[in-house]
Amino acid sequence: MAAKSLRDLFIEELRDAYDGEQRLLKALPRMAKAATNEELQDAFTRHAKETERQVARLEKVFRSIGEGVRGKKCDGIIGIVEEAKTAIDEIDEGAVLDAALIAGGQRAEHYEIAAYGTLAHFAELLGEQRAKDFLGETLEEEKAADEKLSMIAMSDVNRQALATNGEQSDEGGGSSLQAGMRRVAQAMGMTDDRRGQGGRRSVGRRGNSSTKRSGGGSSRARRSSRAAKKR
Ligand code: FE
Ligand code: ZN
Ligand code: FE
Repeated sequence: MAAKSLRDLFIEELRDAYDGEQRLLKALPRMAKAATNEELQDAFTRHAKETERQVARLEKVFRSIGEGVRGKKCDGIIGIVEEAKTAIDEIDEGAVLDAALIAGGQRAEHYEIAAYGTLAHFAELLGEQRAKDFLGETLEEEKAADEKLSMIAMSDVNRQALATNGEQSDEGGGSSLQAGMRRVAQAMGMTDDRRGQGGRRSVGRRGNSSTKRSGGGSSRARRSSRAAKKR
């Protein structure tokens, strides 16, 4: 049924959001499980709990406008969740996967921010004040979830991923002093797991500016232990 009025469209979009939230409710625990960084695991787990409350809040929105609670297949979230699944299937556990999970998680949050921003304004225009308040509340939660993921990415995960990238590649390392220094830098970045942001920051920059894909190719042991962990 094509929407013929803003109110029709409002209801259609609410159904879309309701379906999307339920899909995210299933996906978030899987993303938490696939994450290595503890802060990231925690962020996904907390947001899953929050998402449960958002589902309940949407049910209140439906009731507040006198509509039955119904979902309508949300193709956008289906696509975003599908991409996250692909990352989990294809990338080894560790910082690179964590970075991919954040990239996917933020896509979901941005999608939701767009949806709830629109819905809240529709509600306002339609004179549905209670609905507007509920939707605005969820909007703020989605923004906070997005910011939390940005923070984890930029303070920690992305630079760890940068160090992992150099470490995992075997080809083209050369045998220069530079390559040796890179190995040391990578070892530091990898062993000192969640501390020393400042130290790792300069390490990351150096690795990035000189060579992206080359590395010493020394950490076979670490790689195989990671592989074992995955199995
Ligand atoms: Fe949500
Ligand atoms: Zn959708
Ligand atoms: Fe969300």
